Amino acid sequence: MQEQPIHSQLSRRGFLKLAGAGVATTSMAAMGFGEAEAHVAAHVRQFKLATTTETRNICTYCSVACGIIMYSKGDFYAGEKARIIHIEGDADHPTNKGTLCPKGAAIKDFVNSDTRTKVPRYRAPGADHWEDVSWDFALDKVARHIKDDRDANFVEKNEAGTTVNRWTSMGFLAASGGTNETGWITYKTVRALGVLPFDNQARV
Ligand code: SF4
Repeated sequence: MQEQPIHSQLSRRGFLKLAGAGVATTSMAAMGFGEAEAHVAAHVRQFKLATTTETRNICTYCSVACGIIMYSKGDFYAGEKARIIHIEGDADHPTNKGTLCPKGAAIKDFVNSDTRTKVPRYRAPGADHWEDVSWDFALDKVARHIKDDRDANFVEKNEAGTTVNRWTSMGFLAASGGTNETGWITYKTVRALGVLPFDNQARV
């Protein structure tokens, strides 16, 4: 097999890491540090993240949907509580290429905030307060409402007798942070139900 040239073996993120280390080393040398000290200083950041788990995700805030990498400590699979200690832009993501706006750059504090809603909440008819509920409860509730409303309002034929198969009493707003595949499945599901009012966060 023909060997690949070095530049095609490197991911963009890997290249930026190398380039960043190179720039840091050069800068440290310019400040009077010797080569050994500059080399150590340039790699401090990598040691900080060396024992973490990297997880790719999408910024939760706006419809630009920038790619992020979340670094967490704690082995989730060993029953430990994983905690995110650092989040940065994903240099391999085509949308943002490693950059984040100030809001996205501060997303670690949002993720770790004590006031962030982490479970579904429900306010019963006539109640004056919200309560935490399970995902099973919430999904069953949504499914029940969808079925009941569709049974009551689905229109198969219009007044002229033309088949229309439409359901206009429910609307759906899809998220812009999903993949093409998620978007395709969402579109097919919603349209298959007959829903006409359908939009995406990317247009908001
Ligand atoms: S980083 Fe900023 S621009 Fe990118 S998705 Fe988040 S809020 Fe939007």
